[in-house]
Amino acid sequence: MSVTVRVPAKVNVQLGVGGLRADGFHDLANVFFAVALGDEVTATAGTGVTLSCSGPDAAVVPLDESNLAARAARLLAAHHGIADPGVHLHIAKAIPVAGGMAGGSADGAAALVACDALWGLDTPLDTLLELAAELGSDVPFALIGGVALGRGRGEILEALPVGGTFHWVFAVADGGLSTPAVFHECDRLRDEAGSGSSDTDVATPDADPALLAALADGDVVALAGALANDLQPAALSLRPALADTLRAGTEAGALGALVSGSGPTCAFLAKDADTAAAVAEALRASGTCRAAHATYGPVPGAAVPGRG
Ligand code: ATP
Repeated sequence: MSVTVRVPAKVNVQLGVGGLRADGFHDLANVFFAVALGDEVTATAGTGVTLSCSGPDAAVVPLDESNLAARAARLLAAHHGIADPGVHLHIAKAIPVAGGMAGGSADGAAALVACDALWGLDTPLDTLLELAAELGSDVPFALIGGVALGRGRGEILEALPVGGTFHWVFAVADGGLSTPAVFHECDRLRDEAGSGSSDTDVATPDADPALLAALADGDVVALAGALANDLQPAALSLRPALADTLRAGTEAGALGALVSGSGPTCAFLAKDADTAAAVAEALRASGTCRAAHATYGPVPGAAVPGRG
């Protein structure tokens, strides 16, 4: 018996980053948006917790205990007092690795749902959300999908209303960026600019009302104008060539462009599906990215296809 769960990647349509807190984290105002570009995790009965991975980035996905899918399986088993969990997890990976699209977190969420179904546990969603938050700040959102405002480190979620489907293009860069390194660069740039980087120097970020209204109205032009990522200067500082990618997509007709999360994937908002396909084609031809994918959202979170 096996269970396959599809899980979305995310783009942050707003990522407001507060100052560095004493505990080493930053307060975030994080508007997550789930897109149809996603991974599939298949759980099959097995011995111990074992992993395999397929897809263009498979070679750089760790297949040891550090993989978030394996950690999720073990955490769920421990929660239910299963001393010797048995599962093989296969990850069909489409989400770029270390790309700022929360691919590892997505696989963690998918593994929670897949193992829960495989083992017949029927864990309540609230409990799955708590386990997800233990795995990482971006994991709870991958469970619920849609569009949500994340506060705290991103793990306190509020689902947001959305008035339609939006069309996106994602330009995948060669090589990833480490999320901690990008936050560190953000702090460094703030210090260098003289404004300071601690949570007493930087105002606590909040969701932009214009962005929330654009989402609720399904207004793509307004959303394109409101896209904002406080980590973008840091990602561009570490990877200056991303400016060429952003320019190439905008020149090809995207209404808005931003670095996705901590990067280096670049996200482009298009007015419709045909324009998204044309922007993706132009990005591939531009030589400024490794691959470009047209997709759409919002879509639901980790789910067994055909169920709930
Ligand atoms: P985020 O935006 O959540 O910070 P990301 O999308 O930039 O993350 P991931 O694809 O989640 O980055 O990968 C970050 C690191 O996590 C990888 O370099 C890898 O070592 C590790 N990792 C653990 N589990 C996985 C997984 N299932 N898939 C990909 N990477 C994983």
